[in-house]
Amino acid sequence: FLSKEAGPRILTYPDEYDNSIPEDVLLPEFILQRTVHWNDKVACVNAETKEALTYTQIRENSYALATGLQIKFNLKRGDNVAVVLPNCLNYPVVIFAITLCGGCAILINPAQTINELGHSVKLTQPKIWIGTEDCFVKFEEIYKDYSNNRPSFVFLSTHLTAEKITLSQIIALGHEHVFQRPNINSREDAALILFSSGTTGVPKGVVLTHLNLIASRRQSEELAKSIRRKDRLPSGSSMPTSECLAAILPFYHSFGISGVLDNLMGGLRFVLIPNFTLQRFLQAVQDYKITIVSLVPAIAIQLAKQPVEKRYDLSSLRVIRCGASALSAETIRILKQKLNCTVYQGYGMTETTVRSHANYKGVNREGSIGIVIEHNRNKTLGPNQEGEICVRGPVVMKCYIGDAEATDATIDSQGWLHTGDIGYYDEDGYFFVTDRMKELIKYKGLQVSPTELEKVLLTHPDVLDVAVAPVTDPTAGEIPRAYIVKRLGSTVTDDELAIFLSGKVSPYKKLRGGVFFVDVIPKTSTGKIIRRALKENLSSKL
Ligand code: AMP
Repeated sequence: FLSKEAGPRILTYPDEYDNSIPEDVLLPEFILQRTVHWNDKVACVNAETKEALTYTQIRENSYALATGLQIKFNLKRGDNVAVVLPNCLNYPVVIFAITLCGGCAILINPAQTINELGHSVKLTQPKIWIGTEDCFVKFEEIYKDYSNNRPSFVFLSTHLTAEKITLSQIIALGHEHVFQRPNINSREDAALILFSSGTTGVPKGVVLTHLNLIASRRQSEELAKSIRRKDRLPSGSSMPTSECLAAILPFYHSFGISGVLDNLMGGLRFVLIPNFTLQRFLQAVQDYKITIVSLVPAIAIQLAKQPVEKRYDLSSLRVIRCGASALSAETIRILKQKLNCTVYQGYGMTETTVRSHANYKGVNREGSIGIVIEHNRNKTLGPNQEGEICVRGPVVMKCYIGDAEATDATIDSQGWLHTGDIGYYDEDGYFFVTDRMKELIKYKGLQVSPTELEKVLLTHPDVLDVAVAPVTDPTAGEIPRAYIVKRLGSTVTDDELAIFLSGKVSPYKKLRGGVFFVDVIPKTSTGKIIRRALKENLSSKL
């Protein structure tokens, strides 16, 4: 798993596991089959509006929407659909419906600017968009010069004028017709596309097949079983479980959407908290007696630092799952002590469907990202030797859409995905991430691509050269800082450049680490920015 120049040992790929997943099974079938015991049980509830969907409604609406999409838009195997939605009750229904048709759901952050959205849809060429009224304004702008080949737009809202097509109309249409099951190849056909900048460059579309997502769900089932045993939670295989989960992570991110799929599959009830604030989340824990929550370290740190347990009754919370960036052993200790719950840290990437490592069997080791999840493999250096973490197994993505070069640079000829993270494992096989060699900034668990920000800044007439690098931040983890060489005689200020950028990118990508003017950007002889030098030397001189 840890690759170093000197020929690492490679373990064998477990083919028999791969073959146990049928070739023509659809992800939504795999999940929905497991929900047949839970009919009138509430599957998800919106903490703000109190609207809810039962398991029966989720199943029926998914098939009806799929049928409606087939009738109205001829949605079929191989078609892409852009899902540009905030976290909402119908999110899983939309994903199940698209994938039931053999189509692929492209999960897009609805806060993206027109430029960012333009990039996402240029890569993926959706046939349909599903979004809100806000999103429609951006849609119109992007396709304003298209008279033909414009995608269709389906509105989430139910309160619209007659000429607009809504999700509920398509569901109603679907109820009147019969669903036509497509034939697919679960190993080849894309089910979801999410975005990640990978080890370098601008955001790319990560293609996850039905097999990737099913294999990941199976791993989640194993994890859940082991956690239930350890924390003596009720087993939820054949009877409704009383567990209740807070869904606060964005569903367009792999960690967020995996949580939704896993919890539906496990018969949990999940509480949706739109427009996340710590207060709204804590209120929901108290009101709904939430037992499990998946968090990113930025939220875990807030929970650890603030006297939350004095203001709210959080006694129902028993399990906190954390991932997406590093969580310190100290934060884990504080959380365990004040909330009396178990904190599990996991690790993974969008490119590994969600996680490749987790603390789940035996010891839960603080500060460690856990052990390699069964059926994922790693190249082996000895214990306590640092190297790049490489993963192979059924959860490794198929490719980056339309980018063979980036795919080949990330997955080598033997199928190993190079994560760009540095780490080691101890004598017991527990992994620790120690550094990151790839070009990536993680702001509150969300990806910020330095290349993307550099490209935008270079369009400013006063910017001659630029490099963006992370600065450590105690609450957000990392924040982006720009180092800029400005045109001779330019009077442009740091604030002006920060504002220039913030008008063109999503709010979480803002230059919270500031703008610093420098004489030269350190580069290799081939012109590649030496970001480590920026991080280590330039910052200390400023
Ligand atoms: P994403 O594709 O957005 O999930 O980002 C994946 C990257 O997040 C990984 O390659 C790591 O750099 C980082 N990451 C995820 N989980 C952890 C963790 N538990 N500890 C440290 N870094 C992490």
